Order: sequence, then structure tokens, then C-alpha cells
Amino acid sequence: MSHPKIYYFDNNATTRVAPEVVDAMLPFLTEHWGNPSSAYRFGSDVGRHLEAARAQCAGLINADPREIIFTSCGTESNNTAFHSALVTQPGKRHILTTAVEHSANIKFCQTLAKRGHEVTFLPVDSLGELDVHLLAESIRPDTAIVSVMYANNETGVIFPIEEIAALCRAKGVLFHTDAVQVPGKLKLDVKSLGVDFLSLSAHKLHAPKGVGLLYVRKQTPYQPYLIGGGQERGRRGGTENVANSIAFGRAAELAEATLNDENTRVRALRDRIEETLLKTVTGTARNGGKEPRLPNTANLSFDGVEAEAVLLLLDQAGICASSGSACTTGSLEASHVLTAMGLSPARARGSVRFSLGIYNTAEDVDYLLKELPVIITKLRAMSPAEREAKVAAHRAPPVSA
Ligand SMILES: *Cc1c(COP(=O)(O)O)cnc(C)c1O
Repeated sequence: MSHPKIYYFDNNATTRVAPEVVDAMLPFLTEHWGNPSSAYRFGSDVGRHLEAARAQCAGLINADPREIIFTSCGTESNNTAFHSALVTQPGKRHILTTAVEHSANIKFCQTLAKRGHEVTFLPVDSLGELDVHLLAESIRPDTAIVSVMYANNETGVIFPIEEIAALCRAKGVLFHTDAVQVPGKLKLDVKSLGVDFLSLSAHKLHAPKGVGLLYVRKQTPYQPYLIGGGQERGRRGGTENVANSIAFGRAAELAEATLNDENTRVRALRDRIEETLLKTVTGTARNGGKEPRLPNTANLSFDGVEAEAVLLLLDQAGICASSGSACTTGSLEASHVLTAMGLSPARARGSVRFSLGIYNTAEDVDYLLKELPVIITKLRAMSPAEREAKVAAHRAPPVSA
């Protein structure tokens, strides 16, 4: 399967696996395929490499390796933190989180609410920012866990995690942060952050899909979500995804070196996209506060067009970008993040996210800035019915069971 050249601006959805990461993991798919839990050396040698990867991942966030649990993805890490907090504190039934979390959290919390837990989804303002005083006031005696994402995947807005963690600590409430969007872009230090739980996912960090981690602070009570063998020191049953975990470790090591590139060159590319479009395409607006924000993310709305049509024409030009909108059974639902920020449904549906990464070049940005204004102008010249027909013609037919 080979593709023509793509211009990839969707790094918050997933990232290209770094060649160095592929090199590190391949031997664990070929010659070193033993079970890391086995007693003989063919297995235990693999176990030693797995532990080295754990130490690399711990290093990325300044944790002790024993505080790292490998999971199957960011979603599992998030679910596990909630589950553990509820199981270790059976008297506490309340969960405090925000309206702009990743759907992994929103959907899990909605499910917990159906099972009889009480969930508060804190609102955000028009810039996508939280009112920390309101958060403090919303903590109850029966709050089992507070969960606030470190940085929003749609807008890049960064939340004051250290401040919120301190507040939770003072009230004796467990605190989790979904930091999936952060490594490689900002320095992470769980010791200075003071969090109980922190989730990461390898595929947002130039490693493969299908592995994540949950940091659990040494003193934090913990109960596993997956119950089975004694893997992960009894904290997660199931034979480890060895090759992917080793890839994660290597990517964690590389992330230290890319921090600078993300915050200088990538940030400048992002700013160029944003400033050029805001200046040259009328009816363009930025979604989310300008700072503090991830250096790679731009979320822009374009008056009078639907993101779905923009993305379709971008795709035809070889450009990958996304919108937070979910296309459910043919109708476009506006992003829950942009809706929570109070954007009108029309503006939310006209919003596109560009998320850059270390493999983007100035030429990629030149190409995007050449193609996109033409696409917006072309779509604005069409009637809504013409645009809808164009999108409908390209919409994938439903997969039949
Ligand atoms: C991608 C993402 C997740 C989910 O991670 P998976 O490994 O795909 O399950 C969770 N939270 C945020 C903020 C994300 O961007």
C-alpha cells in the first residue's frame, strides 16, 4: 500500500512512527519474541528490555519506574484511573471533570453516571479556559476523583494542572490528568505537578498505536482494572505489548530532544499558518485562547463553510487535517469542545484543526497556505445545497454488517 505525498497536519490524532523507534522495536517482533514473565533467559532477557523501556518512560515524566503501568492506550489509562479511584474509595460516588475532556473520558463518565455515579462536567469560558475557583467550590466530601486534561486536543489550550493538583491535595481528593497531548511539546514532571494519576499514549509521540501508560504516584491507593496474571507487578493483567512498549521507551527518550524543535520551529510554522489565514481569509477566527497553548495546534473557524466540505477538498489536495466534529449517521454533530466554549453551532461546524509536528517543513506550510484560501473561496461561492451535495457524494457509504 503506497500513497502519493501527503501533507500531514493531524498530529493530535496520531503521529508518524519515528524511524529510530521502528529500529528499536523490530528485534522484539523477530528474534526476541519470548514472554517477559518467563523464568528462562529467552523470556527474562525480554523482561529486562521491557524494564529498560519503563525506565525511559519514567524518565520522560520524572517518575520512579515502579510508578509506571503499561496499558493498551490512552483510553485504557484514563478509564483505569477513574475505576481505581472509585474502587479504592467505595463510599465516594462523585466525579469532577470538565466538559472539554477527550471523548474517552466524557463517554466513560457518562457511562458511570448511568451506573449511579454522580458526575459534574465543569464548564469553560469562550477561550476554552477553566474557572479554578469554581472547580474548588465543586469538590464535595464524596468526590472520589478530579480529572482535568493537561492540554486540550482540539484547541491546544493548556490548563493549570499544578495549581489544580495542589488544590485537590489540600482537600484530600485524588487527581488525574490526561496528558496525552503533552510529551514532546512541554516538559512533564510529575513530582512538581503533584498529580496522583497521569495518562499518556505512545501513538501521539511517534511510537505505534496500541500502547499507553498510567502513572500512579507511589502513595496513591490503586486497584487494577484488568485482572489476570501478575504482570505489571499485579497492577494490570495481560501479557505486555513488548515491542510497542520498547518503542514507547525509545520515543520517550527522543521526545527530550524534540522539545526544543516543537517550541521554536514548529511553533513558528503554526503561528505562520494562523497569522496568514487570520489576515488574508476574511471571516476567519481563532478558537481557544492564544496562550498558554500547545505550540503545534491551531483551531480556526471559517464563516459560511462547513468543516466537512473543507476537509474533503483538502483531502483531494493531499492535505490531512481534522475537525472535532463527529459524523454520526450522516449528520454532522458540532464538536463538544467548541460547543462548551459557547461557539454557535454554525461556527463550530465551520472549524478546522491543524496540528503540526516535528516532520512538518516550511514547504508543507507553503502548500497549505496556497491551497486552503482557494478552497474556502470556492466553497463560499457555492450554495449550501451545492456544498451538501458535494460532501454527500464523497461520504463513505455505511459499512454493512
Ligand atoms: C488521543 C487521545 C486520547 C486517547 O488515546 P488512545 O491511545 O488513542 O486511546 C486520550 N486523550 C487525549 C487528550 C488524546 O488526544
